This record gives sequence, C-alpha cells and structure tokens, in this order.
Amino acid sequence: MIDSHCHLAGSEYAADLEEVVARARSAGLTSALVILAADDQEELARAGAVATVWPEVRFSIGVPHAAGKFADAPESAASQVDAAIAGQPLARAVGEIGLDYHYDFAPRDVQQAVFAAQLRLARRRGLPVVLHTREAEEDTFRILQEEHAGDVGGVFHCFTGDRGMARKALTAGFHLSLAGIVTFPRALELKEVAALVPADRLLIETDSPFLAPVPHRGKRNEPAHVVRVAEIVAGVRGVTVADLAETTQSNFRRLFHP
Ligand SMILES: [Zn+2]
Ligand SMILES: [Zn+2]
Repeated sequence: MIDSHCHLAGSEYAADLEEVVARARSAGLTSALVILAADDQEELARAGAVATVWPEVRFSIGVPHAAGKFADAPESAASQVDAAIAGQPLARAVGEIGLDYHYDFAPRDVQQAVFAAQLRLARRRGLPVVLHTREAEEDTFRILQEEHAGDVGGVFHCFTGDRGMARKALTAGFHLSLAGIVTFPRALELKEVAALVPADRLLIETDSPFLAPVPHRGKRNEPAHVVRVAEIVAGVRGVTVADLAETTQSNFRRLFHP
C-alpha cells in the first residue's frame, strides 16, 4: 500500500530515516507522497536524502497555511513553490496548501491569497493539489471554485469533515484521504464517511509525524502505521485489506502519475 501524505523530510526523521523506511517497506508499503514546505530550505534539502533511501517516493511541494511572511506578496509564495518544483524531478503535486482557521497562524486574508496564488500555479503546471482545510469549509470551497481548481483535481488530505462536506468535495472532483483519526473510537461519523467514498476517490495516509493511529497515539507517527488506517477503513467498507490496498494504490498512481 501507499502512504499518500507524510512529512518524511522533516527534522523528526533526520536521525533514523533508514530505519523508518525499512519498517515501512517491511509493512508492505511501496511508496509514499512526501510533503515539502517550499519555504523550509532545510526540509527541501533533506528531500534528496529521502529519495536516496526510498527512490519510489514522490513529492508534493507547497506553502502551507502558516504563510504570514508572504503577507505583502502572496504571489511570491507561488513563485517559491514553482522554483522548488522545477528543482525536484520527483515533484508530482502542489501542496499542502489551504486554510486553517483553527490555528490562525496567519491572517485569514493572507492565507486565502497565498492559497489562491498556488491554485493558479497548479493549473499553470497541470499538477493536482494536496489540500489542507480546517474550520474553513466555506472559504475553501469558494476559492476552489473561483480558481477552477477542479480542472486539476487533487485530494482533501486528512479528511475530517462530515457527510455533507464529503459530498461537496467529491462533487467538486476531489479525492478524500483518510488518516489515523478514523481509527479513534469516537470517530463515528468519519467511519460513515469512510464507507460512502466511491472506491475510485479514496486514499489513505498517516500525516506522519502527526496523528499516530490507535494503538500508537501520542507517539511520533511513521508511514508503516498506514496499515492500521487501511485495516479500519477496509473493515467499515466490508472489503479485504488487500482489496483496499490495491484500490488506493491505483488511485494514487492515477492522481500523481509516477
Ligand atoms: Zn495538513
Ligand atoms: Zn501534512
């Protein structure tokens, strides 16, 4: 199977990257989409090491919602992403990008302008987008529509919305990716969402190092744990883990065409 969203080039893995990748491989993972922040030079530099240890990975590059430094020049966030993509032959998507009104790390108008500029970049480059959205449903869908992001498509990563939001995202042409939150005992509505996503729009992820699934909660997460997400999602959909692995793998390959 494939972990379709992890931050494996983060400093959290600098000391034991090889062991983390070895555990992913022995858990049956064939690839991962590794997210890089275009404004984090150290993370961009570590991408090379990740690709050396695990040549099957692909990268997605973006400026996330904490984009306060681009307040005066939102377009320059997109140019920085454009340059980073040009310098990374394994880049296959723009992201993660989007709005987070839970943390509000940057003013909302700045988050929106930086998000919109990167959606335009994705369309120029013909790349899918990896979306992060939290407590910002209305503005997220409005901007996706204004920027015609459905033309390139992509994925709502770590989807935690309700059924109504899931339907909106699917109608807009996007995939939904489920993370370890679906394994939490109280995530009942998310399990219903996991059951209703059409098979050709479903992805699974860890969002490592964040969001470790049950029974690893509270510890550093890693791509090998996507197996736990697969088990829970397969269970609620009434399919085997092998079937789910195959479905999500072919969705991943179609979306991020290796
Ligand atoms: Zn995110
Ligand atoms: Zn992430």
